[in-house]
Amino acid sequence: MTPPLVDYLVARAGLPPGSGLAYDYVVGGDGVFIVAANPLLELRVPVAVCDIRGLAPVFAACTLVHGPIPCSIWNEALRFLRAAHVRGSEILVAIRHDGDGYRLVVPSQMVAPLAVKYKPQPGWLLEMHSHRDVSAHFSATDCADEQGLRLYGVVGRLDETQPQVNLRGAYGYFLPVPWTSVFDGDASSVEDLNAEDNNAEHEERLALCPNEAR
Ligand SMILES: [Zn+2]
Repeated sequence: MTPPLVDYLVARAGLPPGSGLAYDYVVGGDGVFIVAANPLLELRVPVAVCDIRGLAPVFAACTLVHGPIPCSIWNEALRFLRAAHVRGSEILVAIRHDGDGYRLVVPSQMVAPLAVKYKPQPGWLLEMHSHRDVSAHFSATDCADEQGLRLYGVVGRLDETQPQVNLRGAYGYFLPVPWTSVFDGDASSVEDLNAEDNNAEHEERLALCPNEAR
């Protein structure tokens, strides 16, 4: 029998094995999650946080299968974002894994002062675009576009020494992800909107597009 695209599971004794081709909804002791994985990324994203008595907790998680991305790739990406900003446009970069290591990708795209148009490619772990000198909050357009199983990021305040970063994933249910969970770099080199100690309202925002948050 062909597995369903999306399946619906109950965490009776720990996390059940994956079943849906794309992802599963899993009901656990700590709420309802989407659980999804590909060769690069494993995610457990809360859809609704609540106590369900008698079931095992699922816990939110974001795991990079090949480990964190080296800081040299972050620095290279930042150089592209800053160079595009100086030339007057946003730009999108992506990161993939070629079997030996992570690689930066600068896909062909149409750039404009406040927009980019590009075609997402399979095999990307992360898509990240710039918001030039303004904040790194996701726009409504970003939310509509970012519906796949991957990490998405915005980098803003590129005029400042510490750019502002905002990472999340996936499938339209957005789990805020700390920059230090993705990049192997010095946390003080960026202003991370999802840094652990920066996240008092984290639980409230879990399943909300930040742009639509109160
Ligand atoms: Zn944007």
